[in-house]
Amino acid sequence: MTELVFRDDAYARACDARIVAVDGRGLRLDRTVFYPTGGGQPGDSGHLVLPSGETLAVADTVKGEAADEVIHVLAPGTPPPAPGTPVVARLDWERRYAHMRLHTCLHLLSAVVAAPVTGGRIAADKAHLDFDIEMALLDKERIETRLNELIDAGHGVEPGWIGDEELDANPRLVKTMSVAPPRGQGRVRILSIPGVDLQPCGGTHVRNTREIGRVVVFKIRSEGRRNKRVTVGFAASSA
Ligand SMILES: [Zn+2]
Repeated sequence: MTELVFRDDAYARACDARIVAVDGRGLRLDRTVFYPTGGGQPGDSGHLVLPSGETLAVADTVKGEAADEVIHVLAPGTPPPAPGTPVVARLDWERRYAHMRLHTCLHLLSAVVAAPVTGGRIAADKAHLDFDIEMALLDKERIETRLNELIDAGHGVEPGWIGDEELDANPRLVKTMSVAPPRGQGRVRILSIPGVDLQPCGGTHVRNTREIGRVVVFKIRSEGRRNKRVTVGFAASSA
């Protein structure tokens, strides 16, 4: 099991850690700031700094089989250091922070569009949610205006926990039909934007919606009968 530093502090850019295991998939550390692919959010990339000062590129981060197990995938051809080696695990922070901003924006989007979410994906320059809704009900201008109003309002973003039983008693909390929250640990990670959105989510988010910055709706298109895709991104970049 890996101590998930990002879960308590999404803003931690680096941490001291120790390599505990190495295999064909990658490295396991005793603790990490690297978020593994999940919930539509990509795994982090970055570097491990060895005691010699040498740096190893981490190309991707994925989940292991066990709960809270994180595997750091080294760039192809990189010889892995031995278990026991102390390292500094350092994120590609610019990329991760973009994920945090767009991920938080998707929570706002799920509140703006009143329909079940059938899927979603986040990248560093754009993100989308798929909704089970009629195309005619998706107004690009209205969605964009409402998103930016919520962003500008400076809503607080608060991660927390909810018990399995409490979650089972409130099935409407689960908006995303394609991603069932993980059960069996007695509690589920939850993300609250008071007055705006509340749902199970294990991703990384900004502390305040204002950090997202101005966004645009790049496009809205049909990806199938139950998938109407709304793609958003930063106003400063292009799709
Ligand atoms: Zn989230």
